[in-house]
Amino acid sequence: QPNSMEARDKAYHMHSYTNARALERDGALVMERGEGIYVYDNNGKKYIEGMSGLWSVAVGFGENRLVEAATRQMSKLPYYHTFTSRANGPSIELAEKLVQMAPVPMSKAFFTNSGSEANDTAIKMIWYRSNAMGKPEKKKIISRIKGYHGVTAVSASLTGLPNNHRSFDLPLPGIFHTSCPHYRAFKLEGESEAAFVERCAKELEDLILREGPETVAAFIGEPVMGAGGVIVPPAGYWPAIQAILKKYDILFIADEVICGFGRTGNMFGTQTFDLQPDFMTLSKQISSSYQPISALLINENVYAPIADESAKIGTFGHGVTAAGHPVAAAVALENIAIIEERDLVGNVRALAPKFQSRLKELEGHPLAIEARGIGLIGALELAPREGFATGQLGPKLFSIMVEKGLISRAIGDSLALCPPLIINESQLDVLFDTFEASLDVLKKQLDA
Ligand code: PLP
Repeated sequence: QPNSMEARDKAYHMHSYTNARALERDGALVMERGEGIYVYDNNGKKYIEGMSGLWSVAVGFGENRLVEAATRQMSKLPYYHTFTSRANGPSIELAEKLVQMAPVPMSKAFFTNSGSEANDTAIKMIWYRSNAMGKPEKKKIISRIKGYHGVTAVSASLTGLPNNHRSFDLPLPGIFHTSCPHYRAFKLEGESEAAFVERCAKELEDLILREGPETVAAFIGEPVMGAGGVIVPPAGYWPAIQAILKKYDILFIADEVICGFGRTGNMFGTQTFDLQPDFMTLSKQISSSYQPISALLINENVYAPIADESAKIGTFGHGVTAAGHPVAAAVALENIAIIEERDLVGNVRALAPKFQSRLKELEGHPLAIEARGIGLIGALELAPREGFATGQLGPKLFSIMVEKGLISRAIGDSLALCPPLIINESQLDVLFDTFEASLDVLKKQLDA
């Protein structure tokens, strides 16, 4: 219909992350409302949101406490900024809460609006700090192949995926990518997991030595890689990486944008993998994405030189209009309160064995090659198949799942799952039954 939502979307809306011409032809799936783990499209069709939107709706859809928290704050003070010497109540409370929740000693919280901005800000803080410390040469940043850290110019450079670089003239100079800890994909023939970890660590060290340790300022990594395909590093990986960072006095940014607030079975991925980061970047589940907000936590070692420099030159010249937005901060506070009161981290721990074992069972499906995951995040990768280019089968399976009422995400040929943390056992069963039935449909189509 010419005036339908779909038609107007095609006419007026350029989407993020899309093949624009394909979208003009095929149209979008328009969601209208949500409740718990479910969303409903504008034709009334119901779906299990197996991805929590974009890895973010921890407390589920339609959570009235968040609506009320937003409404209360909207009526009281809908906006006030946090530039210079101004502040607002919710941003102060949220900063205090986050610093107190941090599993490693952190000094301050700094607010931004998206994960990309949080990571961008971390890098700008690092550059500023190096200048403040009289080490202007110590500015290089190391990230990882397949790491995902966002799309602003610096964050996209950190991201280790060709899509985010190609045609954008990125990465920026001074940003490097070391190996991805995906054992099955990148191991050499006959290489043990321990030997693989050792090689990852050596490749990082070789890169640092090649560039000159005095020029390398920081390393960024997600505890578990999300958008790169849900890659859980092998045991021993993080200790080996962290030892090298310590050895060469390199700061560590833990990108907790997906792992933060319970996803891996602890409040933060930092706890799950025993990390010692200098920065933690937080977004998504911080507010269950009901409001856009992100935060960086920084330790005293990062903060003190930046604070001193700002005193010397008169300002820390960085910040965005909506930083510490009172409505977003009020929603984040209420969201964190729900996560704590309902012990959603406990729910992740209780359901993770079932989630992971049902995912692992799918690895036995004739179309699959590998199941990966931890806590309530996972992915099933499809095996390469003659006649299909890499990345062709994933979207096919995704479409079948959508047809059957399950939203997953195709990352190449890996189908990711990251359901709301409020999911229960019987809902998990339906989710995996649907996944399995979709695999069977795809197999039938391929065998026909
Ligand atoms: N970091 C990680 C680990 C992410 O998964 C994402 C988004 O998916 C980002 C950063 C970027 O966040 P945003 O899309 O809010 O800019």
